[in-house]
Amino acid sequence: MKWAKKNLPATIVVIAVLIIFAVIASLGYTQYLKKEYDKEITNKLENFSKSGAEKTHRMMMQVYGNIKGYSKILTNLDDYESQQQTKLLEELCKDSGYISIGVADTEGRLAATNGMKLNVSTSENFKMSMQGKSWITSMFVEGISNQVLVLSVPIEKDDIISGVIFAICEEFYFEQALRIEEYPNDGITLLVSGDGTVVCKSSNAAGIQIGNNLFDELEISGKNDDSDIDKLRNGMETAREGRLNIWLDGSSYMYYRPLENHDWYIMVMIPKNVMVTGNDKVISSAYIVIAFFIILYLITFLIVRHMQRSNHKKIERIAYVDELTGGISFEKFKRDAADIIKDGDGKPYAMVSIDIDKFKVINDIFGYEEGNRVIRYIWSIINEIVGQDETFAHRRADQFVILLNYEDEQKMMERIEALSEMVRQRESLNEKNYEIILSIGIYIINKETDDDFVLDNAIDRAELAKQSVKGKHNQFYAVYDEKLRQKILRDQEIESRMERALERQEFKVYYQPKYDSRTCELNGAEALVRWYNDKTGMIFPNEFIPLFESNGFIVELDKYMFRQVCKDIRSWLDEGYKVVPVSVNLSQLQFYNLHFIEEYREILEKYDVSPEYVQLELTETTLFSEESILNKIIDKLHDIGFKILMDDFGTGYSSLNMLKNVPIDILKLDKSFVDDIGDRKVDIVVSTIVSLGQSLDMKIVAEGVETKEQYEFLRDIFCDEIQGYYFSRPIAEKEYRQKLIKEADIIGC
Ligand code: C2E
Ligand code: CA
Ligand code: CA
Repeated sequence: MKWAKKNLPATIVVIAVLIIFAVIASLGYTQYLKKEYDKEITNKLENFSKSGAEKTHRMMMQVYGNIKGYSKILTNLDDYESQQQTKLLEELCKDSGYISIGVADTEGRLAATNGMKLNVSTSENFKMSMQGKSWITSMFVEGISNQVLVLSVPIEKDDIISGVIFAICEEFYFEQALRIEEYPNDGITLLVSGDGTVVCKSSNAAGIQIGNNLFDELEISGKNDDSDIDKLRNGMETAREGRLNIWLDGSSYMYYRPLENHDWYIMVMIPKNVMVTGNDKVISSAYIVIAFFIILYLITFLIVRHMQRSNHKKIERIAYVDELTGGISFEKFKRDAADIIKDGDGKPYAMVSIDIDKFKVINDIFGYEEGNRVIRYIWSIINEIVGQDETFAHRRADQFVILLNYEDEQKMMERIEALSEMVRQRESLNEKNYEIILSIGIYIINKETDDDFVLDNAIDRAELAKQSVKGKHNQFYAVYDEKLRQKILRDQEIESRMERALERQEFKVYYQPKYDSRTCELNGAEALVRWYNDKTGMIFPNEFIPLFESNGFIVELDKYMFRQVCKDIRSWLDEGYKVVPVSVNLSQLQFYNLHFIEEYREILEKYDVSPEYVQLELTETTLFSEESILNKIIDKLHDIGFKILMDDFGTGYSSLNMLKNVPIDILKLDKSFVDDIGDRKVDIVVSTIVSLGQSLDMKIVAEGVETKEQYEFLRDIFCDEIQGYYFSRPIAEKEYRQKLIKEADIIGC
């Protein structure tokens, strides 16, 4: 889980950064495009308005010019109201297409075609033209229904203004000027006077509809900001040009530009949707691309996450599920147990380590399937007794771990005993009828007294407690306690010293003589190790051999012993003693290193000792494992000339099987049989073993013979050799050598 958790945020961060980067980059890009697009629109509007303004200006100048031309004709006439003048005006009007043409004197008295007469002295046209300007206004004129354009041009002679010519034309007179080529259809161009009056508009106004006053229209639409309208008013008052976004029948762009020589404005208005250009498409496609990439990133992210999750689930399943039992794995157990203990608020718990006695035998004899069945069976029994706030798992091979609530010692022992009993009473597992015995080690976790509590230590300690009961017949569980701790400390101490001890030759060979049962002659000896250290004194093998077996050092020690024995034999031979065979113990671990045969042979050669003087003692456990390999090894040892002795015969589970399959030379009857001599049944068993062995051409040695009765019984059933305290304890070389001097020493028997 940790793996995935560690990796997931990294992926999220990377993907988030990518998305943010993509969004920023594309927003920046679209922003840039928008600006460019806006610039382009402004440019276009500017150009449209310019071309409209220029055309209008040109047309105005042309019209003014024409009218001015009339003034030239008219100024020759003194009386502008004369009939002749009226006639002339009418002719001009007919030719030019104006609605009416008139002439006003300096007082503002106007005479026009159709006999129209009025005073225009207060009109804007008159005032402006009297100042020398040609002018144009839009207005309603009595007698003409539509709004019309009134044009006025001063009549000048010798720089003196002698009157004003007026011409009235239809409002759409300038419409043509407002028509702009390449202008979009839906756009409109307006000619607007300073107060917002729409003087003229282009006819191509299919899109935007507009009434008489622009400001009114803008206000009525209700969608234009007052600030925008003010901006337009200000701009128009100060004769500036500018751009606005307005709402008239829809959102539109607008550009206003003052006309030269007049206070009118050209305004172009184009609906926004009409102005959609290539850029707009680029922007929308940019948005599509952004969206595409974001979706792509998200999909990638989701896929990666999904894969991570499913991988994680797979890994979790591999890591957290025990294949064999289907229960939780040892790893998961450790996590769960740690959580339970943490949540338990200092409540005591017990860590229990369990394994099955002689599980290897079950596997060897009944096969792995049966072994697996037993493991699953035990798992199911533990499952029954484990409650809430407790957990357990199959660890490996035949091992289980359980975390139990610990109320008090008695309650816990009851549960442990019940578990052991349930396992033992397995009934219908299958027809194979054998008993399953558990070895159980317990470590009480008390967090209050165990400041630096570590779960692994608790498991190790339960395991150590379990190992301390292994192979003990009278005890199947042990609690890790001070005594056990001391033993472990001592083992650690031994381990720290063993190598130095070997260098310093602190290991000594003791010889325990073996005697011919009939003649009581010295017939041989067994080499047994003793560890002598000035500080600790004599240490016996029971204290260190099991430890050396477990840490592998026994291999070194056995070789050392073998070498010492060969050395001793060499010196005895050199000194002319009659040497009898010495048997040397060989740990089963030797068989894992096949070089040992060669090494032993070299040692023999080095000391020039004949193999007939050395025998090798193997224990039955050694003999059981890998029978075919074992036979090969024994064959090789036989080839060298060694005699093979089977130690502790009768304690193993397949002693008889072994007799027929493995080429053994000498059987050593275990002390446990000798101890029970006197018991009728044991006597029968012992004498049967002796005669059976002998009939298979084996010699029989009895070990641990302590009493006269035992000796006599063994002698009477023709057991070949006797080893035991009754004749001699294991003795130092010096002492043993003396026995050799008294060659064929016969002890009174
Ligand atoms: P083992 O090979 O079965 O050796 C016989 C043990 O029985 C020896 O104990 C011996 O002193 C003891 N013994 C002999 N006669 C009597 C008797 O009449 N009464 C009693 N009560 N005991 C008797 P020891 O020397 O303490 O050795 C114990 C075990 O340590 C040996 O059992 C053997 O398995 C192992 N061992 C000793 N030396 C070596 C060694 O050099 N290499 C290996 N691999 N194992 C060794
Ligand atoms: Ca032995
Ligand atoms: Ca033995």
